[in-house]
Amino acid sequence: MRYDYIVVGAGLFGAVFAREAAETGKKVLVIDRRDHPAGNIHTEDRDGILIHRYGAHIFHTSDEEVWRYVNRFASFNRFTNAPLARYRGRLYHLPFNMNTFYSLWGTATPREALERIEEQRREIKGEPRNLEEQAIALVGRDVYETLIRGYTEKQWGRPCTELPASIIRRLPVRLTYDNNYFNDLYQGIPREGYTRMVERMLEGVEVRLNTPWDPEMRSLTDKIVYTGSIDGWFEGRLGQLEYRSLRFETEKLEIRDYQGNAVINDTNAETPYTRIIEHKHFAFDQQEVMDTPCTWITREYPMKWEQGGEPYYTVNDEKNSVLYSRYRRLAEEDPQVIFGGRLGLYRYLDMDDTVRAALDTARKELGRDERKAPGRRKR
Ligand code: UDP
Repeated sequence: MRYDYIVVGAGLFGAVFAREAAETGKKVLVIDRRDHPAGNIHTEDRDGILIHRYGAHIFHTSDEEVWRYVNRFASFNRFTNAPLARYRGRLYHLPFNMNTFYSLWGTATPREALERIEEQRREIKGEPRNLEEQAIALVGRDVYETLIRGYTEKQWGRPCTELPASIIRRLPVRLTYDNNYFNDLYQGIPREGYTRMVERMLEGVEVRLNTPWDPEMRSLTDKIVYTGSIDGWFEGRLGQLEYRSLRFETEKLEIRDYQGNAVINDTNAETPYTRIIEHKHFAFDQQEVMDTPCTWITREYPMKWEQGGEPYYTVNDEKNSVLYSRYRRLAEEDPQVIFGGRLGLYRYLDMDDTVRAALDTARKELGRDERKAPGRRKR
């Protein structure tokens, strides 16, 4: 059997690419070493509750075309992410907004809150050089110490003074009482779970699970779409890129509602986990799910990544960016392989970015005419 494409990884990037290739009549094989499709967005049913096995995934986008695309494969609810943060036993609203500032300082109006922030911002002179300076420049030292420092240092395993400012820039700061974490036009969670959505994308495509990539497969295909780590593909020949890993502790509790919200972050440095997810809240509009007499929660522990472990986040500091560019150059010398996804592209991609990247790659590769693509708004 000969394929036009072997797609390595049945995650979101791989599934979208495979769908597009199959629709242009290409012969595609998708392989994945895990025993389920959907990669890290995989969801599975426990007691009627969909568990996000590799951490909370909330779809949000302002890209009209991406939104329409995912809606072909799933029906989305209107979940709105409004996480809370716990610090020394007290709860604060996220993202940083008037509710947060009111709890911290008792400032009730935007003017009062802004005065506080401006006062504290002055500490930073010039362009912020690291995450700590960037955070203080955005929201001041109080918010930084209460809601940012501990969480960030746990998540990345290094001091905020040694982290790139870019990480924190993806968090909104608002002078309104709006607890919606995302600024995007569309937001929601597939009612039947992400795995079902990915399965629909892969309908009619040959998929082999429990199948790791084997270089001998090269001879079976014209091209390979590889969504594993780019340094892994090259067997680390230029050195190892760094990743952050996670450990999930999932448990069933014999109560109806544990924390009253889908996500609560723990921003204390002493608490070893960064957040607790209570999965049933993602299905807030399905009464039968909310009414189940039990609940499932997951504690998320950041972890050092080591060879053989699961990489979740890329570490886009100076050193790794330089090494990644060298791998990119190496990749350009091999026209048989295309890299995709968070690990193949070595950058933080939200789910909508992933769909967008896969669609763009597919079009470039398959030479398909651009469908009408109105309003590619991304913020
Ligand atoms: N962050 C923070 N406190 C919080 C939540 C987020 O300081 O309570 C910062 C932190 O620097 C983190 C970044 O925002 O690395 C992105 O966090 P988030 O948890 O939203 O990212 P995710 O892991 O969900 O992609």
